[in-house]
Amino acid sequence: MVLIIITAMAGATWFSTSALHNFFLARTKKDLQIRAVLVEKQIRPFSFPPDPRKLEAICRRIGAESATRITIVRRDGAVIADSVESPQRMDNHADRLEVIEALAGHIGISVRHSHTMGREMLYLAMPLRPDADATAASPAADGVLRLSIPITALDEPLRAITADIIACAILLTVLAGLVAFIVSRRITHPLERMRISAELFADGKPAKEINLLEERNISLEVADLAAALNSMANQLNQRLQTVTGQRNQLEAVFAGMVEAVLVVDLGERIVNLNQAASLLLNVDANAAQGKPILEILRNNDLLDFVRRSLAARHPLEDEVVLRKSDGEIYFQAHGAIYRDADNSRVGALIVLNDITRLRLLQNMRRDFVANVSHELRTPITAIKGFVETLQDGAVSCPEDAGRFLAIIHRHADRLNAIVEDLLTLSRIEQEETDGDIALEQGALRPVLQNVCETCGWQTRSKNITLVLDCPDTLSARINGPLLEQALSNLVVNAIKYSPENSEIILTATARPDAIRITVSDSGVGIAKEHLPRLFERFYRSDKARSRKLGGTGLGLAIVKHIVQAHHGVVRVDSTPARGTTFTIELTP
Ligand code: ADP
Repeated sequence: MVLIIITAMAGATWFSTSALHNFFLARTKKDLQIRAVLVEKQIRPFSFPPDPRKLEAICRRIGAESATRITIVRRDGAVIADSVESPQRMDNHADRLEVIEALAGHIGISVRHSHTMGREMLYLAMPLRPDADATAASPAADGVLRLSIPITALDEPLRAITADIIACAILLTVLAGLVAFIVSRRITHPLERMRISAELFADGKPAKEINLLEERNISLEVADLAAALNSMANQLNQRLQTVTGQRNQLEAVFAGMVEAVLVVDLGERIVNLNQAASLLLNVDANAAQGKPILEILRNNDLLDFVRRSLAARHPLEDEVVLRKSDGEIYFQAHGAIYRDADNSRVGALIVLNDITRLRLLQNMRRDFVANVSHELRTPITAIKGFVETLQDGAVSCPEDAGRFLAIIHRHADRLNAIVEDLLTLSRIEQEETDGDIALEQGALRPVLQNVCETCGWQTRSKNITLVLDCPDTLSARINGPLLEQALSNLVVNAIKYSPENSEIILTATARPDAIRITVSDSGVGIAKEHLPRLFERFYRSDKARSRKLGGTGLGLAIVKHIVQAHHGVVRVDSTPARGTTFTIELTP
């Protein structure tokens, strides 16, 4: 606005000063013309024929009085008289524009630089004729009377007026600028506040309502704009809240997922990964962001799966194995492309579901089936073999027949023992899951005494001493028959794997937080590597010895399940060749 005001003021100043200049020039020309007529009257008596001396005297006098230079020029251009300079020293003036014009019978005017005067001059020349009444149309003049004044004489008053005009224009510019400033503040101040609000919003801060109530004289357009911005801010706030809420929900789901989740972009860089994934891959989630997957995933199978997912059109599913220092982890991997708002592919989402437990269970089931089949096949093959031998004629030899039947009987017993144990195990397992195993507070000593009595004949055959150490008052929440079976299994094992004439100690003690029952022997012991798997079904630390002693490999599995049904724990400590101690801990 100030620029417009300055331009307008400068234009007005220029226009008025040039108009004034023209006005002064016109007036001065008129004035010169009047003076010329007066001078012409004075010189006329001495002009035809010309009297140079007289003429010069008049010119000098009038020239001095009127501050005008007066020159009289002959028809051929020679100067006759001049009010300033001596005519002899002056050039021929026939080529001067105003002189040419005057000689042609008109009033000649020209503005030019004068060599004689050394400045800009205004010249006016009028024809001199013997006949004073001759008109412009009459024949050419006999001479020329020329009057001139310096143009500066005209400029001086003009300069003063121009200075006034400029001063006035400056004052007006300042005043107009002030008014423009006040007016523009009315627009810019609310706009400025809107800008600040918009910037805050752009910085991610919640949009604030622009309150323009305190703004006086606000323009209608600005008020409308503010109202539109306020409504936009409100809508954006609402959307932002919705988006933030949804994002928080998603983040919570993402962070809380047990499954490891990786988000990878098309450039094979990690975009995001949840806590489960950072634990699994052993990387810091923040540090991993933006890094190439090649740096983060050190497993070729997984790397390959991610790449296939990025290239695939449909969701992928595969099994991936991660090898870690503490064993293998099996994953069910799901990979799916994810797209942006324009529906173009931006990356892939990889979800890793840990199925190691499932795999182990599957393996255990497979092993169990194989073990059962194996265990059953041995006696069945033996029985079948001996029956066929008998059928093939051995039956006729009473000695062989008796021996073979005894073997068949032994294998049938073994089959029976295995089936019995399997049934017991499955029954306990079933009752355990159904919660059918009733626990009652009861004394332990009678249970332990029963065990000693049941196993008595076996100890006697090996001359083993079975020591019972249990306070009468000791009691726990137990299922008597089941606990008796578990302890019998342990004592029978102890007897089986102990040398003759040794000692087995059965103790029950009260600990601060549990009732502890131990079965200790000083038998063959168990090597360390077998201890973790000892309670698995059909697991035997010494297969040959176990079979020879008629073991089914299920005794300890039964013990484990009975103890579990008692909400207790069972563990084993053993030193090969020195002895084994099984410990059961029950809640009192
Ligand atoms: P088994 O019927 O073969 O005894 P168990 O499940 O009762 O089956 O025992 C599993 C294996 O644990 C046995 O084969 C044996 O090798 C080992 N074991 C169990 N108790 C003892 C013990 N007291 N001393 C040494 N080894 C034992």
